[in-house]
Amino acid sequence: MRSVQCRSSKACSACERSRHLIFSLVLGIQGMVIFITATDTGVGKTMVSSLLARGLAQQGVVPESICYFKPVQTGPRYEDVEAVRHWAPQISFASLYHYPQPSSPDQAQKAAPELPQVRRERIAEELRRLSARYEYVLCEGAGGLYVPLDHEGSSWWDVLKDFPMQILLVVRSALGTLNHSALSLRALEYQGLSAFLVVMNGSLHKENEASLRRMFPDQRLISQQQVGCDEEHKEAAQRLAALCLESLAVDKAARSEKRNKARDYEREHIWHPFTQHQEGHAPLWVQGARDLSWTLESGERILDGISSWWVSGLGHGREELGRVLAGQQQTLDHVLYGGVAHEPAALLAGRLVELAQLEAPASGSSEPLKRVFYSDNGSTAVEVALKMAYSYSQRRRSLGPEPRFLAVAGGYHGDTLGAMSVSAATRYHTPYAALFAPTEYLQPQLLAPVHRSACCVVEQAVAALEEQFAQHHASYLALICEPLLQGAGGMLIQHPRWLEALVGLCRRYGVPVIFDEVFTGYGRLGFPFAFQKLGMAPDILCTSKGLTSGTLPLAVCLATEEIFAAFLSARSEDALLHGHTFTAHATACAVALKVLDLYHEGGLFQRAQQLEGFYERAQHEAQEGCRELWQDPRILGSVWAFEVGGEDTDERGYFAASAQRVAQCALRRGLFVRPLSRTLYLAPALTVSEEELMGMCRILTESLVEAAAQNPC
Ligand code: PMP
Repeated sequence: MRSVQCRSSKACSACERSRHLIFSLVLGIQGMVIFITATDTGVGKTMVSSLLARGLAQQGVVPESICYFKPVQTGPRYEDVEAVRHWAPQISFASLYHYPQPSSPDQAQKAAPELPQVRRERIAEELRRLSARYEYVLCEGAGGLYVPLDHEGSSWWDVLKDFPMQILLVVRSALGTLNHSALSLRALEYQGLSAFLVVMNGSLHKENEASLRRMFPDQRLISQQQVGCDEEHKEAAQRLAALCLESLAVDKAARSEKRNKARDYEREHIWHPFTQHQEGHAPLWVQGARDLSWTLESGERILDGISSWWVSGLGHGREELGRVLAGQQQTLDHVLYGGVAHEPAALLAGRLVELAQLEAPASGSSEPLKRVFYSDNGSTAVEVALKMAYSYSQRRRSLGPEPRFLAVAGGYHGDTLGAMSVSAATRYHTPYAALFAPTEYLQPQLLAPVHRSACCVVEQAVAALEEQFAQHHASYLALICEPLLQGAGGMLIQHPRWLEALVGLCRRYGVPVIFDEVFTGYGRLGFPFAFQKLGMAPDILCTSKGLTSGTLPLAVCLATEEIFAAFLSARSEDALLHGHTFTAHATACAVALKVLDLYHEGGLFQRAQQLEGFYERAQHEAQEGCRELWQDPRILGSVWAFEVGGEDTDERGYFAASAQRVAQCALRRGLFVRPLSRTLYLAPALTVSEEELMGMCRILTESLVEAAAQNPC
């Protein structure tokens, strides 16, 4: 790279820029990457790229710090590179793929099967490399934004999501441009993106320009006439680059103002959940999320090891869901669900009933789950279920003295009053204990974390349960539990024999059973619902988290016809008098339908069965030294968990320091996990590949060793 010699004592722009470049290289700061795309092919992307390259140099940018990058060239080799080189010979050039046939990259590769397919990750990698090296990277696409790059259907959208760039859209100036331009600009909006500049290229068409300005009043736009001679090119280049730099600077200033404002408001106004603000608080700022990872402001990627509280079963930012969301929002966003019906809610109800009947357990409820009641979060689904069961028991059973709910110690059902009442009393819930509904807790028999439930012990526990039920069954309003796996309570695996006996006793004595599958539902344990793995169905099923894969909040309770019938009467007060503003949110229901399609098509309801095998291997291959550091490693479905800290450490609180230290090490290594007291666990999206899962396990175990080395006992 040539350095610029400048004798001026005052800072000139070229000096400034070359200094910036040197700092960028030293600090690894990214240069500006501009993606030049167009509404179509042959619109003039390459001409605009050449103008920009030349114009930037005229604006004082060191030419050697500019790189023109053509990731995919179809047709004559170096055609576009040569065209740009003609006008801006001093800049650098890069390209990755070339196919001789002048068509879309996927078709061109098909015509030349000996050539490798485009790999979008490789494009992103190259962009990362170039942006660390050059002050300006001008990346020119091939065709328009939706042009397929490979046989899997990746397009420039995917590249833009893998590596965010500043977008310059070239549109035709001539007749027919308005529709194409509007479609491209709207498509950008729907993807959460925008063009910092639109260049109308071709012979001047003042009317088209005026129309486009009317349609997109906030869009920066410039008309660019065809250039013939060198002088015209030079002038046009000057004009375009000046506007580009100005637009980029304005955008950058606006982004930084927004960022600073957000920081201030966060500090001054946000009250975070589960957070002691007096201790000081430095949240992790997340800017984007896609597939298995989040993007931080620095551009760093962090793997989401717990699928954002076990929600995004399909991974983040699925485009298919975005399309459904946008379409439904434009058709019917939300209507009150009071005396109103709509297709998304009705269709989703039918799908859920079918799903619950798949692999229907032989034993358990005498009736299928056929009625669907909507709400919008896990806690509320639990509240609804408790009310359903309460009214059912009041109306259909002759209750004994001191009626109470039966819950399982170690369970977690949410943070609203009813849900807290039936959750294990932790020090986070006890301040509200005076407000709780009467509840009796059962000590569960666990397979893990501690294998203390030998067969004879389980049988003894079952015998004790039988005795307890024989005496008190009439006082039990309902049983509520998380089937097989208690999540937030510490990833505790129940002994199925004990659970079967418990549910069996409820059946025998007519005590309604609520399964809280807010966590275990939608494939978490390798079945659509955990009760299908257990082989016993509840009377009421609560689900939420995975239902929309995190796109919008939604929850449902499924109930048997028998529970539903208890609310039928001539008195309107006997109806289930419960409903929320966002009940059966139409857009959320439409998204959920698509989510269920994607789980089904991807075999994701069963996928966790395979994940168990990968975890087994990871656990077996775990680095020397782990075995002494972790206790009770355990695997169930998509969950792998273990305890950290010594046996006798008094770290039962939510924020056990030993586990927090491991989580911090993992974060530095690019993995986000959030311990539950001393329990560390993984519960990623069900779409995780074997390689990705093994990578996460490796990071977690390495972090365990690293944290122990920093803090030896
Ligand atoms: N039930 C279970 C089993 C849960 O895991 C949770 C949340 N972790 C809830 C209920 C409460 O759900 P929400 O946070 O959506 O209110």
